Amino acid sequence: MLAAAKTRQPQEILAAVTAGVEIIGENYVQEAERAYEVVGNRVKWHFIGHLQKNKVKKAVRLFDMIETVDSLEIAREIDKRCAQIGKIMPVLIEVNSAREKQKSGVFPEEVAPLVREMAALPNLRVEGLMTMGPDSANPEDLRLVFAETRKTFDRISQLNLPGVEMRYLSMGMTDSYKIALEEGSNIVRLGSKIFGERDYEED
Ligand SMILES: *Cc1c(COP(=O)(O)O)cnc(C)c1O
Repeated sequence: MLAAAKTRQPQEILAAVTAGVEIIGENYVQEAERAYEVVGNRVKWHFIGHLQKNKVKKAVRLFDMIETVDSLEIAREIDKRCAQIGKIMPVLIEVNSAREKQKSGVFPEEVAPLVREMAALPNLRVEGLMTMGPDSANPEDLRLVFAETRKTFDRISQLNLPGVEMRYLSMGMTDSYKIALEEGSNIVRLGSKIFGERDYEED
């Protein structure tokens, strides 16, 4: 379980850590920097937002995993910036399993070609997949999306690509984590469940 900390103050995040949270998920590099100053490296930090190329240099210093790689371009930038600091970054590929327009993530059939290219990058390691799924009113609608992501995960695992270790399937949030776990998730990303309702919603 990771605590999705967007919009939360560093002190709230620290309180969650004191209560036992071991992984913090951040959507924005700048928010993560502020929280890191208070919380430090006693927890793992996962990047779960949309990563822009000009933020990669900072992100690779701060984060222990980047869950939202969805292009070879961003993967190459992560590889390059990690090489500069002697780090190997565990990454997940964000899959747009529901094929929503204007959403980030690659389509299921694009995952294998992307992973094959990424396997050649020495300073990152593909460790699994992440999906958001549609903002559906009914979490049961998400079950098919999670099942589809799980299928993609299994397919990539069976390719046994050198340098690729399929270990993590990050899916499920406050309203959907139980369904996600039933469909094979092993990382759930909980925000409001842990911190309470957010003051404003993500766009
Ligand atoms: C905000 C967010 C979450 C958590 O959402 P909740 O509904 O508050 O649990 C999980 N994953 C990502 C990528 C998010 O942006």
